Formats: sequence, structure tokens, C-alpha cells
Amino acid sequence: MSPVVVTVDGPAGTGKSSVSRGLARALGARYLDTGAMYRIVTLAVLRAGIDPSDEAAVGDLAASVQLSVGYDPDVDHCYLGAEDVSVEIRGDEVTRAVSAVSAVPAVRSRLVGLQRELAAGPSSIVVEGRDIGTVVLPDADVKIFLTASAETRAQRRNDQNIAAGLSDDYDSVLADVRRRDHLDSTRAVSPLRAAADAVVVDTSEMTETEVIAHLLELVKQRSEAVR
Ligand code: C5P
Repeated sequence: MSPVVVTVDGPAGTGKSSVSRGLARALGARYLDTGAMYRIVTLAVLRAGIDPSDEAAVGDLAASVQLSVGYDPDVDHCYLGAEDVSVEIRGDEVTRAVSAVSAVPAVRSRLVGLQRELAAGPSSIVVEGRDIGTVVLPDADVKIFLTASAETRAQRRNDQNIAAGLSDDYDSVLADVRRRDHLDSTRAVSPLRAAADAVVVDTSEMTETEVIAHLLELVKQRSEAVR
């Protein structure tokens, strides 16, 4: 198969990250996790003692922050300067602040530019995020938008909370999922929505293996059709 650029967008709780990594592995492609890039900038903001809602200060910092991410779907390689921050960026503090930081236009323009540079190149790549098919790589060969019902996503997150020894509270998790869906889809900058030419896949009733097999088939069909 010739090299392809595949975008995978959608909200949290759709299995997007595992599925994107699995797809990259199956295609022998590079993998780019754009959420990790927003998380690294957020960590830099928190470490600098900047209030995530202070747009001007966050924007200034974003212009100079040194970050790097890897392409290997099996290795989390996320650096802030020379420091490996792969674990720290997944923590609660960063997770709580990342929405505010990623809503700052100066952060988005810096990272979108970087994402386009990183996605360029002669080999295949799977790029995962929220606005990849709509804003970052509108000319991608194959665009996928993963969805799942709010109930399914809340159930998956509540199960993760229980497994992590946190509270079992499905109703409040569901309310939070609905609140964030509303915020994400109505925000002014890069609202979360499927590109007009994306294939929407509802993962509510599918296992991870089934989703990967389905996407692999879609990539094969579509990449043959566009050439
Ligand atoms: O995918 P992940 O949960 O790691 O993304 C963290 C956050 O980064 C998201 O909740 C969203 O606020 C932001 N993000 C974004 N645009 C992207 C990827 C992530 O705004 N392309």
C-alpha cells in the first residue's frame, strides 16, 4: 500500500488512543498523539506558576516552550526540554488544566504548526486528536471520527475510576461527560466536530479489536479509492 495520512478525531472515552496506536502498528505507520502536545504545554504552564486562564501569559510561554514527542505507537516519548514527562502529563493536575490551556488561540497556532511539520514526510502516519481532520490536516487521505454514546463513555470512565481505586459514581461521571461534550462542541476555537468527509464510527457496541479491524479495512478501501 502507498503511504497514507490518517486522522483519528473524537471525544474522550471512545477508545481513540488505543485504537489509533493499534491502527498505526497494523499499518507500520508513524503515530502522532497531539493531545500529549497540549498536555506538555499545560505542564510547562503549571510549573511556571501561570494561571491557565491567563491567556496572555499562557500564550507567551507557549511561544518559547521546548517540547518533543515520538512517533512510536508502543513507546510514550514526551519531553519538556530535556526531561521525560510522559507519566506526569497524564496526571490529574494536567488533565484538569489542559482544556483551558488548549482553548488559548496562541497555543493552538503554535501546536498546529508543529503538528503539520511532524506529520509531513514520505511515510504513513496516524494522527490522533480533536481537530486533525478539520483544521490541522484537512487534506488527509483518510479521516475517521470516533463516537460512542455518552452512557458508554461514562461507563468506560467509571470502570477506569473503579479499577484505579477511585470512587464509583456513574451518575456524576455521566453528568460530567455531557457537560464537557457541550463545552467542546460549542467552543469558538476548533470546536469538536467531524470533518464533512470523515467516516464516523460509533464504537459503543464494538471491542477495541473490532474497531481496529474495521478502520484497517476503511483505510485500505479509501486509500485505494483516492489514488
Ligand atoms: O487526547 P487527550 O485527552 O490527551 O487530550 C488532552 C486535551 O488536549 C483534550 O481534552 C483537549 O482539550 C486538548 N486537545 C485539543 N486538540 C487536539 C488534541 C487535544 O484541544 N488536537
